[in-house]
Amino acid sequence: MRLVTIEKIRISVGSASVLGLGGLAQFKNPPTTCYIMTFKKGHCMANCGFCPQARSSKSSIEKLSRVNWPIFSFKDFLTKLKYMPFSKKFKRICIQTLNYPENFNDLIEILTQIRPYTDIPISVAIPPLTKEKLIELKNRGVQRIGIALDGATSEVFEKIKGSNVEGPYKWEEHFQKLDEALDIFSPGYVSTHIIIGLGESEKDVIELIKRLNNLGIIISLFAFTPIEGTRFENLNQPTLLNFRKLQLGRFLIINNEKQLNDFTFNRKGEIIKINMRKKELNMIINNTNAFLTSGCPGCNRPFYTSKPSGPIYNYPRKLTEKEKLEIYELLYKFVN
Ligand code: SF4
Repeated sequence: MRLVTIEKIRISVGSASVLGLGGLAQFKNPPTTCYIMTFKKGHCMANCGFCPQARSSKSSIEKLSRVNWPIFSFKDFLTKLKYMPFSKKFKRICIQTLNYPENFNDLIEILTQIRPYTDIPISVAIPPLTKEKLIELKNRGVQRIGIALDGATSEVFEKIKGSNVEGPYKWEEHFQKLDEALDIFSPGYVSTHIIIGLGESEKDVIELIKRLNNLGIIISLFAFTPIEGTRFENLNQPTLLNFRKLQLGRFLIINNEKQLNDFTFNRKGEIIKINMRKKELNMIINNTNAFLTSGCPGCNRPFYTSKPSGPIYNYPRKLTEKEKLEIYELLYKFVN
């Protein structure tokens, strides 16, 4: 393997602030995971229509979703990681990997350099890789792996990151890679995410969540967020009602509380009823987990898809009483 010397790394602005890098102000809801991203001059080779890093995007290259990821010296990052006070310690490190020819070598170098400094669990979000490369990542101490489907159906997938946007990805291949990742990392250690608001129906999402959950894949939901300069800059975010129904549906399915036949859909594929009582709904809202950022343990991704001023789709912290009430007001009509 080529010997790589990483000089630069991108770090999400929230994680950089917790690390004490760049004189950034402290955030009210700081990230509990350290989010870093492989550094590449120029854009990702893929062309996902929602993504500021995409090949044909005119957005700031600093961004992934609505968050800024400034460049830092990799050496400074390692030093900050090493001397981080215990009280500020992250629960996890998550490495976002762009699609470019040297991405795997860069990733291996980053992993090799980080490991002597910390024993925090590491997750890696990657474009599909070969089985051999996945095994190598596992051997290098990666605990969890994420391969993003983003689209809830093969049609949406084509439209947002496949041939319709001259992207390299294929729905079937993504599934095959998720399957291979399950063999290597085990069920419960492989994740994917679905972006809501790109033309799929609620039925599509619920059925996909069920399919993925049966395979042992962890599912995160994100609200589509239009970013200036991307191909999809003029599309709207999903409604809060649409997103809350799906957060609830996801929670019910992954906790085995409901099956597909507990959901009733109309002809447009919208959820019109969930077979549960209002008391049950109240308990789930009070527990709040259904409405927090979902993903690997310890991941809260503050304001990745929501402005701090709201509306907040995925909460990075427990809900307030007022927020619980707002969610109940949206959802109670859909239960018995
Ligand atoms: S592969 Fe990831 S970073 Fe690259 S364009 Fe798609 S979403 Fe953006």
